[in-house]
Amino acid sequence: MVTQNVDGLHRRAGSTHVVELHGASDRVVCLSCGQVFARQSVADRLAELNPQVDLDVAIRLAPDGDVAVEDVDAMVIPSCTVCGGS
Ligand SMILES: [Zn+2]
Repeated sequence: MVTQNVDGLHRRAGSTHVVELHGASDRVVCLSCGQVFARQSVADRLAELNPQVDLDVAIRLAPDGDVAVEDVDAMVIPSCTVCGGS
């Protein structure tokens, strides 16, 4: 199945072999090693590393899964816990 959904709806409904054309909003992939993380775990680490930033204001998740970040340079980005990549 090929889907444009980013919310994992087809996987939760039991579909297998799903190709998510626009990715998935519940998972984050390390671009260095390919390790997949739950988005919430990365969001939790981002909050821990940036207590000075109101992430609800600085980061906006659009319905299509795109993310708008106000000032990336002012934030500490968590490294991959597997390979150390960013
Ligand atoms: Zn990695």
